[in-house]
Amino acid sequence: MLLYPHLNVNEKGHLTIGGLDTVALAAEFGTPAYIMDETVIRANCRTYLTAAKAAFGAEALPLYASKALCFAGIYRIVAEEGLGVDCVSGGELYTAAKAGFPAARIYFHGNNKTDADLRQAMDMGVGTIVVDNTDELEALESIAEQLCKTQRILLRITPGIDPHTHRAIQTGNVDSKFGNAIVTGGAMAITKKALACKRLQLCGFHCHIGSQIFDIDPFRDAADIMLRFIADVRRETGFLAEELNLGGGLGVPYTDEDPRMDYASAVTDIAAVAKAAAERAGVPMPRIILEPGRSLVAAAGITLYTVGSVKEIPGFRNYISVDGGMPDNPRYALYQSRYTALIANRASEPADYRATIAGRCCESGDLIGEDMPIQRAVRGDILAVLTTGAYNFAMASNYNRLPRPPIVLVRDGAARVAVRRESFADLLRNDII
Ligand SMILES: *Cc1c(COP(=O)(O)O)cnc(C)c1O
Repeated sequence: MLLYPHLNVNEKGHLTIGGLDTVALAAEFGTPAYIMDETVIRANCRTYLTAAKAAFGAEALPLYASKALCFAGIYRIVAEEGLGVDCVSGGELYTAAKAGFPAARIYFHGNNKTDADLRQAMDMGVGTIVVDNTDELEALESIAEQLCKTQRILLRITPGIDPHTHRAIQTGNVDSKFGNAIVTGGAMAITKKALACKRLQLCGFHCHIGSQIFDIDPFRDAADIMLRFIADVRRETGFLAEELNLGGGLGVPYTDEDPRMDYASAVTDIAAVAKAAAERAGVPMPRIILEPGRSLVAAAGITLYTVGSVKEIPGFRNYISVDGGMPDNPRYALYQSRYTALIANRASEPADYRATIAGRCCESGDLIGEDMPIQRAVRGDILAVLTTGAYNFAMASNYNRLPRPPIVLVRDGAARVAVRRESFADLLRNDII
Protein backbone atom coordinates (compact mmCIF):
# COMPACT_ATOMS: atom_id res chain seq x y z
CA MET A 1 0.00 0.00 0.00
CA LEU A 2 1.28 3.43 -0.97
CA LEU A 3 -0.28 6.07 1.25
CA TYR A 4 -3.80 4.75 0.47
CA PRO A 5 -5.36 1.30 0.12
CA HIS A 6 -6.50 1.91 -3.49
CA LEU A 7 -2.86 2.38 -4.58
CA ASN A 8 -0.69 -0.69 -4.92
CA VAL A 9 2.14 -2.26 -6.89
CA ASN A 10 1.44 -5.19 -9.23
CA GLU A 11 3.59 -8.18 -10.22
CA LYS A 12 5.24 -6.10 -12.99
CA GLY A 13 6.36 -3.60 -10.37
CA HIS A 14 3.91 -1.02 -11.72
CA LEU A 15 1.83 1.34 -9.60
CA THR A 16 -1.88 0.47 -9.71
CA ILE A 17 -4.93 2.57 -8.89
CA GLY A 18 -8.24 0.86 -8.24
CA GLY A 19 -6.58 -2.34 -9.48
CA LEU A 20 -5.59 -0.84 -12.88
CA ASP A 21 -1.98 -0.60 -14.08
CA THR A 22 -1.01 3.08 -14.25
CA VAL A 23 1.60 2.43 -16.95
CA ALA A 24 -1.14 0.97 -19.15
CA LEU A 25 -3.42 3.91 -18.28
CA ALA A 26 -0.67 6.34 -19.31
CA ALA A 27 -0.30 4.47 -22.62
CA GLU A 28 -4.05 4.50 -23.24
CA PHE A 29 -4.92 8.04 -22.19
CA GLY A 30 -1.58 9.85 -22.64
CA THR A 31 0.17 12.11 -20.15
CA PRO A 32 -0.18 14.28 -18.25
CA ALA A 33 -3.47 12.84 -16.98
CA TYR A 34 -5.46 12.97 -13.78
CA ILE A 35 -6.62 9.48 -12.80
CA MET A 36 -9.28 9.31 -10.09
CA ASP A 37 -10.69 6.32 -8.28
CA GLU A 38 -14.44 6.97 -8.30
CA THR A 39 -15.01 4.25 -5.71
CA VAL A 40 -12.90 6.22 -3.22
CA ILE A 41 -14.91 9.41 -3.80
CA ARG A 42 -18.17 7.51 -3.33
CA ALA A 43 -16.88 5.75 -0.22
CA ASN A 44 -15.83 9.09 1.29
CA CYS A 45 -19.28 10.56 0.54
CA ARG A 46 -20.87 7.59 2.31
CA THR A 47 -18.56 7.90 5.30
CA TYR A 48 -19.56 11.55 5.79
CA LEU A 49 -23.26 10.95 5.16
CA THR A 50 -23.50 7.95 7.47
CA ALA A 51 -21.55 9.66 10.24
CA ALA A 52 -23.51 12.90 9.86
CA LYS A 53 -26.84 11.05 10.02
CA ALA A 54 -25.71 9.15 13.12
CA ALA A 55 -24.49 12.35 14.78
CA PHE A 56 -27.10 14.89 13.69
CA GLY A 57 -30.16 12.84 12.72
CA ALA A 58 -31.75 11.72 9.47
CA GLU A 59 -32.01 15.32 8.19
CA ALA A 60 -28.22 15.73 8.15
CA LEU A 61 -26.83 16.99 4.86
CA PRO A 62 -23.07 17.14 4.42
CA LEU A 63 -22.11 19.41 1.54
CA TYR A 64 -19.32 18.74 -0.93
CA ALA A 65 -17.28 21.93 -1.39
CA SER A 66 -17.12 21.61 -5.15
CA LYS A 67 -14.33 24.12 -5.69
CA ALA A 68 -11.96 21.29 -4.72
CA LEU A 69 -12.72 19.37 -7.92
CA CYS A 70 -15.34 20.70 -10.29
CA PHE A 71 -16.58 19.01 -13.46
CA ALA A 72 -20.07 17.91 -14.50
CA GLY A 73 -19.60 14.28 -13.52
CA ILE A 74 -18.63 15.02 -9.92
CA TYR A 75 -22.01 16.70 -9.35
CA ARG A 76 -23.73 13.54 -10.64
CA ILE A 77 -21.67 11.35 -8.34
CA VAL A 78 -22.34 13.57 -5.32
CA ALA A 79 -26.07 13.80 -6.16
CA GLU A 80 -26.29 10.00 -6.39
CA GLU A 81 -24.57 9.72 -3.02
CA GLY A 82 -27.15 12.05 -1.46
CA LEU A 83 -24.94 14.96 -0.41
CA GLY A 84 -25.52 18.66 -1.02
CA VAL A 85 -22.88 20.90 -2.61
CA ASP A 86 -21.33 24.24 -2.02
CA CYS A 87 -20.64 26.39 -5.08
CA VAL A 88 -18.60 29.59 -5.19
CA SER A 89 -19.16 31.06 -8.65
CA GLY A 90 -21.53 31.36 -11.56
CA GLY A 91 -19.43 28.78 -13.38
CA GLU A 92 -19.80 26.23 -10.61
CA LEU A 93 -23.54 26.93 -10.36
CA TYR A 94 -23.86 26.50 -14.13
CA THR A 95 -21.93 23.23 -14.11
CA ALA A 96 -24.06 21.90 -11.24
CA ALA A 97 -27.26 22.92 -13.04
CA LYS A 98 -26.15 21.33 -16.34
CA ALA A 99 -25.32 18.14 -14.45
CA GLY A 100 -28.85 18.13 -13.04
CA PHE A 101 -27.83 18.74 -9.44
CA PRO A 102 -30.90 19.57 -7.30
CA ALA A 103 -30.70 23.35 -6.75
CA ALA A 104 -32.36 23.16 -3.34
CA ARG A 105 -29.32 21.26 -2.08
CA ILE A 106 -26.86 23.96 -3.21
CA TYR A 107 -25.25 26.50 -0.86
CA PHE A 108 -23.80 29.48 -2.70
CA HIS A 109 -20.64 31.01 -1.20
CA GLY A 110 -18.09 33.66 -2.11
CA ASN A 111 -16.81 36.96 -0.77
CA ASN A 112 -17.66 38.94 -3.88
CA LYS A 113 -20.72 37.65 -5.67
CA THR A 114 -21.76 39.87 -8.55
CA ASP A 115 -25.36 40.94 -9.18
CA ALA A 116 -25.34 38.51 -12.10
CA ASP A 117 -24.21 35.68 -9.80
CA LEU A 118 -26.95 36.48 -7.28
CA ARG A 119 -29.62 36.67 -9.96
CA GLN A 120 -28.41 33.41 -11.52
CA ALA A 121 -28.55 31.69 -8.12
CA MET A 122 -32.07 32.95 -7.43
CA ASP A 123 -33.27 32.07 -10.94
CA MET A 124 -31.95 28.54 -10.47
CA GLY A 125 -33.67 28.21 -7.12
CA VAL A 126 -30.45 27.74 -5.14
CA GLY A 127 -31.51 26.60 -1.67
CA THR A 128 -29.24 28.78 0.45
CA ILE A 129 -27.07 31.80 -0.25
CA VAL A 130 -24.29 32.40 2.28
CA VAL A 131 -24.11 36.19 2.38
CA ASP A 132 -20.61 37.53 2.97
CA ASN A 133 -21.07 41.26 3.56
CA THR A 134 -23.57 44.12 3.80
CA ASP A 135 -23.10 45.26 0.19
CA GLU A 136 -24.07 41.79 -0.92
CA LEU A 137 -26.97 41.68 1.54
CA GLU A 138 -28.41 44.88 0.09
CA ALA A 139 -27.88 43.73 -3.49
CA LEU A 140 -29.55 40.38 -2.78
CA GLU A 141 -32.53 42.01 -1.07
CA SER A 142 -33.11 44.25 -4.07
CA ILE A 143 -32.74 41.37 -6.56
CA ALA A 144 -35.19 39.29 -4.51
CA GLU A 145 -37.56 42.25 -4.54
CA GLN A 146 -37.31 42.51 -8.34
CA LEU A 147 -37.93 38.78 -8.72
CA CYS A 148 -40.73 38.82 -6.11
CA LYS A 149 -39.10 35.86 -4.39
CA THR A 150 -37.80 35.14 -0.95
CA GLN A 151 -34.37 33.64 -0.41
CA ARG A 152 -33.05 31.51 2.43
CA ILE A 153 -29.69 32.84 3.64
CA LEU A 154 -26.90 32.24 6.12
CA LEU A 155 -24.42 34.93 7.12
CA ARG A 156 -20.69 34.31 6.94
CA ILE A 157 -19.01 35.03 10.24
CA THR A 158 -15.28 35.13 11.03
CA PRO A 159 -14.86 33.62 14.48
CA GLY A 160 -11.29 34.94 14.82
CA ILE A 161 -9.26 31.80 15.29
CA ASP A 162 -6.04 30.43 13.88
CA PRO A 163 -6.29 26.77 12.92
CA HIS A 164 -2.49 26.26 12.65
CA THR A 165 -2.28 25.85 8.92
CA HIS A 166 -0.62 27.72 6.05
CA ARG A 167 -1.55 31.44 6.02
CA ALA A 168 -2.88 31.30 2.47
CA ILE A 169 -5.43 28.67 3.48
CA GLN A 170 -6.53 30.27 6.77
CA THR A 171 -9.88 31.93 6.46
CA GLY A 172 -11.30 32.32 9.96
CA ASN A 173 -9.22 35.12 11.47
CA VAL A 174 -10.43 38.68 11.96
CA ASP A 175 -8.12 40.12 9.29
CA SER A 176 -9.73 38.24 6.43
CA LYS A 177 -11.40 39.14 3.18
CA PHE A 178 -14.15 36.68 4.13
CA GLY A 179 -17.13 37.32 6.32
CA ASN A 180 -17.94 39.51 9.32
CA ALA A 181 -15.90 39.49 12.50
CA ILE A 182 -17.63 39.02 15.83
CA VAL A 183 -15.13 41.06 17.88
CA THR A 184 -15.50 44.18 15.72
CA GLY A 185 -19.29 44.18 16.03
CA GLY A 186 -19.57 43.59 12.28
CA ALA A 187 -21.25 40.23 12.72
CA MET A 188 -23.98 41.57 15.00
CA ALA A 189 -24.54 44.57 12.72
CA ILE A 190 -25.05 42.49 9.58
CA THR A 191 -27.32 40.12 11.51
CA LYS A 192 -29.63 42.99 12.49
CA LYS A 193 -29.58 44.25 8.95
CA ALA A 194 -30.43 40.80 7.57
CA LEU A 195 -33.32 40.43 10.01
CA ALA A 196 -34.76 43.66 8.64
CA CYS A 197 -34.67 42.39 5.03
CA LYS A 198 -38.20 41.48 4.00
CA ARG A 199 -37.25 39.17 1.14
CA LEU A 200 -34.44 37.36 2.91
CA GLN A 201 -35.06 34.58 5.37
CA LEU A 202 -32.12 34.39 7.76
CA CYS A 203 -31.67 30.79 8.96
CA GLY A 204 -28.32 30.93 10.70
CA PHE A 205 -24.61 31.38 10.35
CA HIS A 206 -21.61 29.99 8.57
CA CYS A 207 -17.90 29.92 9.31
CA HIS A 208 -15.00 28.18 7.61
CA ILE A 209 -11.80 28.33 9.57
CA GLY A 210 -9.28 27.00 7.07
CA SER A 211 -8.03 23.90 5.36
CA GLN A 212 -5.78 20.90 5.98
CA ILE A 213 -6.75 20.79 9.68
CA PHE A 214 -5.92 17.55 11.49
CA ASP A 215 -7.39 18.02 14.93
CA ILE A 216 -10.72 18.84 16.46
CA ASP A 217 -9.55 21.72 18.69
CA PRO A 218 -10.05 24.47 16.10
CA PHE A 219 -13.59 23.14 15.51
CA ARG A 220 -14.21 23.15 19.28
CA ASP A 221 -13.09 26.79 19.40
CA ALA A 222 -15.20 27.68 16.37
CA ALA A 223 -18.28 25.94 17.78
CA ASP A 224 -17.84 27.67 21.13
CA ILE A 225 -17.46 31.12 19.60
CA MET A 226 -20.28 30.62 17.10
CA LEU A 227 -22.73 29.28 19.68
CA ARG A 228 -21.93 32.12 22.07
CA PHE A 229 -22.60 34.47 19.16
CA ILE A 230 -25.91 32.69 18.49
CA ALA A 231 -26.82 33.19 22.16
CA ASP A 232 -25.85 36.89 21.98
CA VAL A 233 -27.95 37.34 18.86
CA ARG A 234 -30.93 35.73 20.57
CA ARG A 235 -30.50 38.02 23.58
CA GLU A 236 -30.20 41.18 21.47
CA THR A 237 -32.70 40.49 18.71
CA GLY A 238 -34.84 37.51 19.73
CA PHE A 239 -33.68 35.64 16.60
CA LEU A 240 -32.70 32.02 17.22
CA ALA A 241 -30.43 30.52 14.53
CA GLU A 242 -31.68 27.12 13.43
CA GLU A 243 -28.62 26.27 11.33
CA LEU A 244 -24.88 26.50 11.92
CA ASN A 245 -22.55 25.63 9.08
CA LEU A 246 -19.06 24.93 10.41
CA GLY A 247 -17.39 24.74 7.00
CA GLY A 248 -14.87 22.23 5.73
CA GLY A 249 -11.17 21.85 6.26
CA LEU A 250 -10.43 18.32 7.43
CA GLY A 251 -6.95 17.31 6.32
CA VAL A 252 -5.61 14.55 4.09
CA PRO A 253 -2.17 12.93 4.13
CA TYR A 254 0.09 13.94 1.23
CA THR A 255 3.15 12.16 2.60
CA ASP A 256 3.81 9.34 5.04
CA GLU A 257 4.66 11.95 7.69
CA ASP A 258 1.21 13.56 7.62
CA PRO A 259 -1.32 12.46 10.21
CA ARG A 260 -4.28 10.36 9.11
CA MET A 261 -7.82 11.28 10.00
CA ASP A 262 -10.80 9.07 10.50
CA TYR A 263 -13.54 11.29 9.05
CA ALA A 264 -16.38 9.36 10.66
CA SER A 265 -14.88 9.95 14.11
CA ALA A 266 -14.13 13.55 13.22
CA VAL A 267 -17.82 14.12 12.40
CA THR A 268 -18.84 12.41 15.65
CA ASP A 269 -16.34 14.54 17.61
CA ILE A 270 -17.48 17.77 15.95
CA ALA A 271 -21.08 16.87 16.82
CA ALA A 272 -20.06 16.34 20.43
CA VAL A 273 -18.18 19.64 20.70
CA ALA A 274 -21.08 21.50 19.04
CA LYS A 275 -23.56 19.94 21.46
CA ALA A 276 -21.41 20.85 24.46
CA ALA A 277 -20.96 24.37 23.11
CA ALA A 278 -24.74 24.78 22.69
CA GLU A 279 -25.28 23.65 26.26
CA ARG A 280 -22.66 26.06 27.58
CA ALA A 281 -24.15 28.90 25.56
CA GLY A 282 -27.65 28.01 26.74
CA VAL A 283 -29.19 27.69 23.28
CA PRO A 284 -30.87 24.72 21.58
CA MET A 285 -28.51 22.74 19.33
CA PRO A 286 -28.84 24.14 15.79
CA ARG A 287 -28.75 21.94 12.69
CA ILE A 288 -25.01 21.50 12.05
CA ILE A 289 -23.76 21.46 8.46
CA LEU A 290 -20.26 20.42 7.42
CA GLU A 291 -18.83 21.09 3.98
CA PRO A 292 -15.71 19.02 3.27
CA GLY A 293 -13.93 19.49 -0.05
CA ARG A 294 -10.40 18.16 0.01
CA SER A 295 -11.13 15.18 2.26
CA LEU A 296 -13.78 13.86 -0.17
CA VAL A 297 -11.67 13.90 -3.33
CA ALA A 298 -7.95 14.49 -2.75
CA ALA A 299 -6.93 10.92 -2.01
CA ALA A 300 -8.87 9.55 -4.97
CA GLY A 301 -6.65 11.27 -7.53
CA ILE A 302 -3.16 10.81 -8.90
CA THR A 303 -1.44 12.60 -11.77
CA LEU A 304 0.60 10.67 -14.33
CA TYR A 305 3.40 12.39 -16.22
CA THR A 306 6.11 11.28 -18.62
CA VAL A 307 9.70 11.98 -17.60
CA GLY A 308 11.47 14.07 -20.22
CA SER A 309 14.89 14.60 -18.68
CA VAL A 310 17.00 13.78 -15.67
CA LYS A 311 19.61 16.44 -15.00
CA GLU A 312 22.24 16.03 -12.29
CA ILE A 313 24.01 19.25 -11.29
CA PRO A 314 27.04 18.18 -9.24
CA GLY A 315 27.21 19.95 -5.88
CA PHE A 316 23.65 21.19 -6.29
CA ARG A 317 20.75 18.92 -7.05
CA ASN A 318 19.06 16.53 -9.43
CA TYR A 319 16.14 17.60 -11.57
CA ILE A 320 13.55 15.27 -13.03
CA SER A 321 11.47 17.18 -15.57
CA VAL A 322 7.97 16.08 -16.50
CA ASP A 323 5.49 16.97 -19.25
CA GLY A 324 3.19 19.01 -16.98
CA GLY A 325 3.80 21.13 -13.89
CA MET A 326 2.33 24.29 -12.42
CA PRO A 327 -0.45 24.57 -15.01
CA ASP A 328 -1.94 21.24 -13.85
CA ASN A 329 -0.72 21.47 -10.23
CA PRO A 330 0.06 24.97 -8.93
CA ARG A 331 0.02 23.96 -5.27
CA TYR A 332 3.77 23.81 -4.69
CA ALA A 333 4.21 27.20 -6.35
CA LEU A 334 1.34 28.63 -4.26
CA TYR A 335 1.82 27.01 -0.86
CA GLN A 336 4.98 24.84 -0.98
CA SER A 337 2.65 21.87 -0.60
CA ARG A 338 4.36 18.53 -0.14
CA TYR A 339 3.57 15.48 -2.22
CA THR A 340 4.57 11.87 -2.59
CA ALA A 341 5.86 10.91 -6.04
CA LEU A 342 7.15 7.72 -7.56
CA ILE A 343 8.23 6.26 -10.85
CA ALA A 344 5.13 4.25 -11.75
CA ASN A 345 6.95 1.72 -13.94
CA ARG A 346 9.63 1.13 -11.24
CA ALA A 347 7.38 1.28 -8.20
CA SER A 348 8.94 -1.79 -6.59
CA GLU A 349 12.46 -0.33 -6.79
CA PRO A 350 13.76 1.54 -3.73
CA ALA A 351 13.14 5.29 -3.59
CA ASP A 352 16.83 5.90 -2.91
CA TYR A 353 17.30 8.85 -5.25
CA ARG A 354 16.59 12.48 -4.39
CA ALA A 355 15.28 14.90 -6.95
CA THR A 356 13.49 18.14 -7.54
CA ILE A 357 10.55 17.40 -9.80
CA ALA A 358 10.22 20.22 -12.29
CA GLY A 359 7.47 21.09 -14.71
CA ARG A 360 7.91 22.20 -18.30
CA CYS A 361 7.01 25.88 -17.95
CA CYS A 362 9.31 28.83 -18.37
CA GLU A 363 9.39 29.60 -14.64
CA SER A 364 12.05 28.47 -12.15
CA GLY A 365 9.26 28.17 -9.59
CA ASP A 366 7.43 25.62 -11.74
CA LEU A 367 8.08 22.70 -9.42
CA ILE A 368 6.03 19.80 -8.10
CA GLY A 369 8.37 19.38 -5.16
CA GLU A 370 11.96 19.66 -4.00
CA ASP A 371 14.28 17.12 -2.43
CA MET A 372 11.80 14.33 -2.97
CA PRO A 373 12.74 10.70 -2.38
CA ILE A 374 12.05 8.77 -5.59
CA GLN A 375 13.26 5.85 -7.71
CA ARG A 376 15.99 6.46 -10.30
CA ALA A 377 14.39 7.59 -13.56
CA VAL A 378 15.18 7.90 -17.26
CA ARG A 379 13.45 9.72 -20.11
CA GLY A 380 10.23 7.93 -21.00
CA ASP A 381 9.44 6.69 -17.49
CA ILE A 382 6.01 7.40 -16.03
CA LEU A 383 6.08 9.58 -12.93
CA ALA A 384 3.06 9.52 -10.60
CA VAL A 385 2.22 12.23 -8.08
CA LEU A 386 -0.22 11.04 -5.42
CA THR A 387 -3.11 12.82 -3.67
CA THR A 388 -3.89 15.21 -6.52
CA GLY A 389 -7.69 14.83 -6.54
CA ALA A 390 -8.32 18.19 -4.87
CA TYR A 391 -7.20 21.68 -5.94
CA ASN A 392 -5.26 20.42 -8.98
CA PHE A 393 -7.65 20.15 -11.95
CA ALA A 394 -9.77 22.82 -10.24
CA MET A 395 -6.80 25.21 -10.20
CA ALA A 396 -5.39 24.24 -13.59
CA SER A 397 -4.50 26.88 -16.17
CA ASN A 398 -3.30 27.03 -19.75
CA TYR A 399 -0.07 28.81 -18.85
CA ASN A 400 2.51 28.44 -21.65
CA ARG A 401 -0.45 27.47 -23.83
CA LEU A 402 -0.49 23.96 -22.39
CA PRO A 403 -3.78 22.09 -22.88
CA ARG A 404 -5.36 20.90 -19.62
CA PRO A 405 -5.05 17.15 -18.94
CA PRO A 406 -8.06 14.82 -18.98
CA ILE A 407 -9.78 13.34 -15.94
CA VAL A 408 -10.04 9.57 -16.18
CA LEU A 409 -12.33 7.85 -13.69
CA VAL A 410 -11.51 4.34 -12.57
CA ARG A 411 -14.25 2.09 -11.19
CA ASP A 412 -14.87 -1.67 -11.04
CA GLY A 413 -11.71 -2.44 -12.98
CA ALA A 414 -12.57 -0.14 -15.89
CA ALA A 415 -11.42 3.36 -16.85
CA ARG A 416 -13.45 6.03 -18.66
CA VAL A 417 -12.75 9.60 -19.62
CA ALA A 418 -14.86 12.04 -17.57
CA VAL A 419 -13.24 15.22 -18.91
CA ARG A 420 -11.51 15.12 -22.30
CA ARG A 421 -7.95 16.34 -22.74
CA GLU A 422 -7.99 19.86 -24.17
CA SER A 423 -6.80 20.02 -27.76
CA PHE A 424 -4.78 22.78 -29.41
CA ALA A 425 -8.03 23.73 -31.19
CA ASP A 426 -9.71 24.15 -27.77
CA LEU A 427 -7.00 26.65 -26.90
CA LEU A 428 -8.00 28.76 -29.91
CA ARG A 429 -11.76 28.41 -29.35
CA ASN A 430 -12.27 31.95 -28.08
CA ASP A 431 -9.53 33.74 -30.00
CA ILE A 432 -11.43 35.90 -32.48
CA ILE A 433 -8.79 38.15 -33.98
C1 LIG B 1 -12.83 25.70 0.52
C2 LIG B 1 -14.01 25.70 1.35
C3 LIG B 1 -14.47 24.50 1.91
C4 LIG B 1 -13.75 23.20 1.75
O1 LIG B 1 -12.50 23.21 2.35
P1 LIG B 1 -11.61 21.87 2.37
O2 LIG B 1 -10.40 22.25 3.10
O3 LIG B 1 -11.35 21.52 0.95
O4 LIG B 1 -12.43 20.84 3.07
C5 LIG B 1 -15.63 24.56 2.63
N1 LIG B 1 -16.31 25.71 2.80
C6 LIG B 1 -15.89 26.88 2.28
C7 LIG B 1 -16.68 28.10 2.48
C8 LIG B 1 -14.73 26.91 1.54
O5 LIG B 1 -14.32 28.07 1.03
